[in-house]
Amino acid sequence: MAGCGVCHTDLGYFYDDVPTRHALPLALGHEISGRVVRTADDTTEWRDKTVIVPAVIPCGHCELCSRGRYAICAKQKMPGNDIQGGFGTHIRVPAFGLCPVDGSRLDDAGLELADVSVVADAVTTPYQAVARSGLAEGDLAVVVGVGGVGGYTVQIASALGAKVVAVDVDPGKLDIISGYGAALTLNARELGFRELKQAVRDFAKENGLRETESIIFECSGTAAGQLTAYGLVTFGSTMCVVGFTLDKVEIRLSNLMAFDARLLGNWGCEPALYPAALDLVLNQRIQLLPFVERRPLAEINEVFATVHSGGMRRRAILVPDAAA
Ligand SMILES: [Zn+2]
Ligand SMILES: [Zn+2]
Repeated sequence: MAGCGVCHTDLGYFYDDVPTRHALPLALGHEISGRVVRTADDTTEWRDKTVIVPAVIPCGHCELCSRGRYAICAKQKMPGNDIQGGFGTHIRVPAFGLCPVDGSRLDDAGLELADVSVVADAVTTPYQAVARSGLAEGDLAVVVGVGGVGGYTVQIASALGAKVVAVDVDPGKLDIISGYGAALTLNARELGFRELKQAVRDFAKENGLRETESIIFECSGTAAGQLTAYGLVTFGSTMCVVGFTLDKVEIRLSNLMAFDARLLGNWGCEPALYPAALDLVLNQRIQLLPFVERRPLAEINEVFATVHSGGMRRRAILVPDAAA
């Protein structure tokens, strides 16, 4: 293990009694980077390679996988849920889906192997959502909720040529993301929904963008955020549900019909998309370092408590090497 990011999903298992599929005791952690130190006899080509382990590892050969439906592979393995996770010194994972990391390109980008652990979930999950949305140069994109995953959604959409509006209720988060790809930031707590919608429309007009076919990413994982995102759906829009909440919302589903709009889900990211997502990081078209913080694995209890209390703005990456 080089590093393993602390995700809110981990906190759910730890604090909120969300059950893991593997019986306890279980090491949590599914945002993993490291170096292969031992392999099975049929995967020796991976020996000594530096890699990112996908957060969702499809089996690669079932009927669903053979049709490219990796996200719904029934035999998929998630570290820290189905198998032992990354908060440790070593982990045993399937070779299928491993994403090689070029050490010299890491050096050029000023990154350590531990830093790109967050590619395994926080970067690739929105990357798949953006890829599926069909987002292209010159599109209007709106990202609701610009914390960890939402912040990378802004960066990815912007790197791929969209003009991005960031919506959040936290002025601090909006402030940060305005320096990393958000062309306009809107505080949903300060603006009424009508004003917010008008501000998006004005932004499109001022920037010569189509008002139709906007692409909206719901990354807040809150009922309020989902209502805001859905309310922005217009003619030809695509709305991607990237955040998760158990809460329910009341919406007029027929707007999708009337607007000829689409609503897309997104589970993890298929391994084939990892190299392209990692490229954005290594080419420095999206920035990781302002959004991550390395901490020694030995401090895991303290780090979990701090993240849980909302006291950590950056994503914590736990590093087994105590010198971190
Ligand atoms: Zn996660
Ligand atoms: Zn499969």
